[in-house]
Amino acid sequence: MKIIFLGAPGAGKGTQAELVSKKAGIPTISTGVILREAIKDKTPLGIAAKSLIDNGQLVPDEVVIELLTERLSQDDCKNGYILDGFPRTIAQAEALDKMGIAIDKVVNIYVADETIINRLAGRRSCPGCGATYHVVFNPSEDGEHCTGCGAVLTQRDDDKPETIRKRLTVYHELTAPLEQFYEKRGILVTVEGQEELADTTALTMKALELL
Ligand code: AMP
Repeated sequence: MKIIFLGAPGAGKGTQAELVSKKAGIPTISTGVILREAIKDKTPLGIAAKSLIDNGQLVPDEVVIELLTERLSQDDCKNGYILDGFPRTIAQAEALDKMGIAIDKVVNIYVADETIINRLAGRRSCPGCGATYHVVFNPSEDGEHCTGCGAVLTQRDDDKPETIRKRLTVYHELTAPLEQFYEKRGILVTVEGQEELADTTALTMKALELL
């Protein structure tokens, strides 16, 4: 099964992707996570990507397409995967087509912009294992440390309010057209992101027939 999660930054793609990943037994591939690792490791790619990411802009298509192609060639992707944060442009979606990858379902999580701005301010992530939390909607056990690995939770640099607005503008301009792109193929399902995480999860599992 090959699944794409679409949706604005902070809509809950990463969280739902992780839950589906556990249920379906296929890995989640997140270009954002791969890029943040490169930044942490101070690789040439990471250094080049950091200022773009911190400014709410996209990393060039060629760069992310290459990263993704490399990742998909690994063994754990043989039985399918979930793409979280890729494609983000029509050119990236066309690159998947060129690679001969047939996507089964695209889950589009819809959340209004104002809700996103409030949500992202409370998002926290684990620098150790990459798990994501929210101070109100999805807190870790003690609220400060990762429940999984115990590292102190941090806020992403690109979750600052001014960067969030920029990321939303970029999303509407470059990524939202993908809804139509996949709608035309009859594989798009839109799930309205709910207040309660469990409610969004139920809708997502239903959309993917994983209940
Ligand atoms: P995410 O963790 O998916 O929110 O990604 C964080 C940031 O990484 C984005 O705001 C972009 O700057 C960059 N990024 C992640 N995935 C892509 C992609 N597919 N294309 C271009 N830039 C990306």
